[in-house]
Parts: sequence; structure tokens; C-alpha cells
Amino acid sequence: MSKQTQVPPMHPASAMDFLPPAQLQDIQLARLQAMVQRAFDHVALFRERMDRRGVTPADVRSLCDIALLPFTVKNDLRDAYPFGLFASPLEEIVRFHASSGTTGTPIVVAYTQEDVDDWARAMLRSFASAGVHRGDIIQNAYGYGLFTGGLGAHYGAEALGASVIPISGSNTDRQIMVMRDFGVTVICCTPSYFLHLIERGAELGVSFKDLPLRTGVFGAEPWTEEMRQRIEAASGIKAYDIYGLSEIVGPGVAMECLHQAGPHVFEDMFYPEIVDPDTGTVLPDGTEGELVLTTLCKRAMPMIRYRTRDITALTGAPCACGRTLRRILRIGRRSDDMLIIRGINVFPSQVEAALLKVEGTLPHYQIVVDRAKGLDTLEVQVEVTPELFSDTVGAMEQLHADITHAIASVTGLHAEVRLVAARTLLRSEGKAARVVDKRKL
Ligand SMILES: [Zn+2]
Repeated sequence: MSKQTQVPPMHPASAMDFLPPAQLQDIQLARLQAMVQRAFDHVALFRERMDRRGVTPADVRSLCDIALLPFTVKNDLRDAYPFGLFASPLEEIVRFHASSGTTGTPIVVAYTQEDVDDWARAMLRSFASAGVHRGDIIQNAYGYGLFTGGLGAHYGAEALGASVIPISGSNTDRQIMVMRDFGVTVICCTPSYFLHLIERGAELGVSFKDLPLRTGVFGAEPWTEEMRQRIEAASGIKAYDIYGLSEIVGPGVAMECLHQAGPHVFEDMFYPEIVDPDTGTVLPDGTEGELVLTTLCKRAMPMIRYRTRDITALTGAPCACGRTLRRILRIGRRSDDMLIIRGINVFPSQVEAALLKVEGTLPHYQIVVDRAKGLDTLEVQVEVTPELFSDTVGAMEQLHADITHAIASVTGLHAEVRLVAARTLLRSEGKAARVVDKRKL
């Protein structure tokens, strides 16, 4: 029996997902103009950059004029640490979030009460897109704290009227107990952590296929279509891709609908562009490039043309759900993640897609890049099913050859493939560390 229930009636907040394009564009332009004026008036960085370009807020007369405005990059947020990009006085700020700072100076983001309410509405619409409704029990395993994931999903779930379990990350055995005992229907976490939950569940005698769980809202790390198929086959749920980033708001910038055809961007709140990562030129829909986002509503910390480093394409092709919001292709690549191995550009997602197509592999792998005798080496460690692992040498050799071939055909590189037993590789409770680049150590 399918776990999928009938599509619930549309939540009133989702009406914004279905606006006629002309009406949507009118809203976008009015909000863009107001936001640019506000950023210009209150944030020195934006004013100085616009002055240098000889652009004033009055020059934004149409949506295309957004291309006149300067880009913002992550280092601008680092340089402004902690409060340099705020457009609201501190007494209007009701919430801070921040990055962990593991890769440098942390970035701080801030919200007014209206910003928090808008964010909750974006997350509400995200949940509703995936058919989540009042009466659902949502296990929110995103981390609560400075990270935006936990509280972002939490407020959206409450705004929707669903029941939220604020379990946060970690403590895997308790997660499984709660999921079973509370009759959880929706889970929010990273896709890699969900794989870990399925696996631990099996060890504890809990089969996810037998639970009421039907929907996964997965984000905070890139994952491939192949990974989605593995997750759905192993758990019997539908796995949806949610997209967001703290610099813009947190989770809830874009979310897939029931048709799983790539996340719809909530374009009335976040204006998306795709640009050539090298030249910054705006590219047409359907062309792959770097996603650039502009906040249209944010008050405490407006963001103009923020370069996300995520590589994707926008599509305005009609979606079976009827939403008029454009979609981004599921993001499997970040320009930050690109590895250059023997002069060849390789993305971890390419390796993931290649090896998950080979039967007998498990969706747990690690990529190790090193240098020996002046030459880059690529090792891919991948877990294989216990049946295969204990099988004849011949079957293992065949699998080894198949994976080596699959990776070579996608990346053009010969990888040293190492087959390991199930549960050998370290599991993550948040974002998975798929790549170890020893050349940088
Ligand atoms: Zn759709």
C-alpha cells in the first residue's frame, strides 16, 4: 500500500505560488525598488558600491535594471562582521543567526519581527508545496541554534498548524524511537543523516517502510537524483529537495512540489538570476550558471545580488502543479566544491551519481584526494551490500570494475576504488563530509 495520502486542500498562503506572471512581476518590481532604496539609505557598503557605479535607486525602473546593481559575496558578510550590513537599528532586531565560522570569520544574519514572520511564511509555503498539512507530525532534526535550519523549519511548521517535534540533530536512537512512537509523518534533516537513520532503524528492528512516515524535507547539502531514488526505495517515503541559505533567509528560499521537478523559488520574496560565474553576465532561463539571489522583503539585512556559488539553471517551463514560480534545477554542484584533479574539474556529485548507478553499492562513500610523487591521486571508498561483500571474489572484482568504469566515464579520471563493508565509513549527524582533500592538509 502506498504511504501517499490524497493531496490536501491548498493552504491560503500558497495562493502566492500561483499568481499570473504579470501580477508577480508588478509585486517584484515594487518590492525591489523599496528594498534597494532601503539598502542604499541604511547600509554603507551598498551605497558606496552603487555610488562607484554611478547608480541610484531611481535607476531601477524595471526588473531588468537589477543588472545595474553590484554583486554581494560571502566575504562582504565576513568583512562586515558582526553588524556592518544591518539596515535596521539594533532595537528592531529580534533574532540573530550565524555560521559556524569553521572556514573563517563567521557571518552573522539578523531579522526583525516582520522578517521572522516572512520567513515562517516561506517555510509554511515550502511544507505546503510538498503536501504537508495541519495534522501532520513533523520531526524536525535540523540543528536548533545559530544554524538557521532548525528554527526556520520550526516556525514554518507551527505557522502551517502542523505538530512539530523540536528534536534537533543527533541522538539517533532517540530519533528512531520518537519517529515510531509519535507516529511521525514528516521528517526534516540532511539527506545523509536520513540514510543514517534508516540504517540504524534496521539495526533496531524498525523498518521505515512500516512507519506512517511519508515525506522527507531534505536540504542543507547537495544531493543527487540517484541519492533520492536510493532514499525513496529504502524507506518508502517521498523525498523532497528544499533550498535555502542563511545569507538570504535560511531554509525556504525554494522548495519542490509534489512533482519533484526541482525547487520552485518563492519569487515574490527572493529574486533569482543565473549569471556566468566568470563574467557576471546574466544568462537566460535554461542556461546553467551561478545562482544569484536578491531579497525582496528582508528588512534587517537586505541582500542585493548575492552570489551563492551554487551552479544550477532556472526554468520557467510549466510545472504539473500549476505554480507560476520558476524552478531551479536541483543543486548538485557548488563552485566551492569543485576539485581539480590532474587538471580535470570534478564535482563530488558526479562521483555520487556514477557510483549509485552501480547495483550493489550503498549510498555511503568518501572521496579522498591526495598527491603522490607530484601527481594527484583520487581514491573512492564505497560501502557495498553485505550480500555482495561476503560473496565470491569474482562478484567483488566485477563490482570493482563496474564502479571504476562508471566513475571514469563521467569524470574522465581513473579512480582507485576501494570497496568496504557496510558501516565502515563515518556517519554524519549533520552535513556529510564526502570529500577529504589531503593536498590541503
Ligand atoms: Zn510544481
